[in-house]
Amino acid sequence: MLHIQNLNVHYGGIHALRGINIDIPDNKIITLIGANGAGKSTTLRSIMGITKPSQGSIRHQGEELTKYKTKDIVEKGIVLVPEGRRVFANLTVEENLILGAYCRSDKDEIKKDMEWVYELFPRLKERLWQKAGTMSGGEQQMLAVGRGLMTKPKLLMMDEPSLGLAPLLVKEIFNIIKEIHRQGMTILLIEQNAKAALEVADYGYVLETGTIVLEGPGKELLTNEEVKNAYLGEA
Ligand code: ATP
Repeated sequence: MLHIQNLNVHYGGIHALRGINIDIPDNKIITLIGANGAGKSTTLRSIMGITKPSQGSIRHQGEELTKYKTKDIVEKGIVLVPEGRRVFANLTVEENLILGAYCRSDKDEIKKDMEWVYELFPRLKERLWQKAGTMSGGEQQMLAVGRGLMTKPKLLMMDEPSLGLAPLLVKEIFNIIKEIHRQGMTILLIEQNAKAALEVADYGYVLETGTIVLEGPGKELLTNEEVKNAYLGEA
């Protein structure tokens, strides 16, 4: 579904991505793990057309994405839930979700999807009228994911959805990721919580200073000695 080939990104003199290759087949969860500054967010930003690569291709259903603007890429069904709960603080939960559907016109379907998001996140339904900025960090994170889902994406990309959440909420977020995957969504998950990410992922890539150093099925990477030492905090 989405193929990244020989992707290179430069920020001035910094060579942030050095010819990476990633495949994201339909209906799979793919994860990208790596330390701070490895290039994970840069990969997501390149897919979204926010960062322009210096070389390489990103093909989605046979079409080259790098020539498009972010708005067009969103319209093609690719959405990014950014790191850090970027919700509209002064708008209510409901308004935030409605904004997620801004480029859709299928009113009945939007209504259905709203119900679907409320089913996935009952907490959001309880807080419909609450200003997003007054919700807890975990609730805002859920709202950010819910808003992403309201675009009805073909590919949902999440940048560190578990960042800063208490263990119970981390579990909840990963259960929801599993559930939306079960319902057929394709997901690209960026995580520093490598263990949780590899447990849910069909396939994972390990990024180090802009290069993919290791890849394989999630379960295999979980038992890989190098991954254990570097990312799972085990000897
Ligand atoms: P983190 O887990 O800390 O978010 P990351 O793996 O997402 O890290 P990126 O944010 O993609 O890493 O950054 C990759 C490299 O590119 C880093 O060295 C970073 O400092 C650099 N970089 C990222 N954005 C810019 C920018 N706008 N200008 C200059 N350098 C940048």
